[in-house]
Amino acid sequence: MQPRVDYKNLYIDTEFIRERKQVKGEQIQAIYRFLDTKACRSKAILYYFGEENSTYCGECDLCLRRKHLATIEAKIEQEIRVLLMEKSLELHELIDNLTVGSDEQKLKVLRTLTDEGKVAIQDGKQYHWMAN
Ligand SMILES: [Zn+2]
Repeated sequence: MQPRVDYKNLYIDTEFIRERKQVKGEQIQAIYRFLDTKACRSKAILYYFGEENSTYCGECDLCLRRKHLATIEAKIEQEIRVLLMEKSLELHELIDNLTVGSDEQKLKVLRTLTDEGKVAIQDGKQYHWMAN
């Protein structure tokens, strides 16, 4: 319970308010950058505090997701290897016989294997395992 200050004596520090608004705006931008990060939450926080060369933490949701995707891709590659070492297959046969991953993931792995020369396409449509 304090007596109300007369408006004639009321002082509003507009410069202080403007600065506070700017600081709050920058903090909100930092939070958005943190939420937008695709690499690693820990790296994003450390980057905010000026550490630019930190390593992946391996434990945040983004790191776990990356590990999970890498595991699925490794399984897809393994299945492609087993299938194509047995016999050459057309694309749809190969994709249909893979038991893990989405079609997008399967095609991504197949594309990588083709780019690396581990898988070759013969007669324009038969996929063949080239590596050991
Ligand atoms: Zn992480």
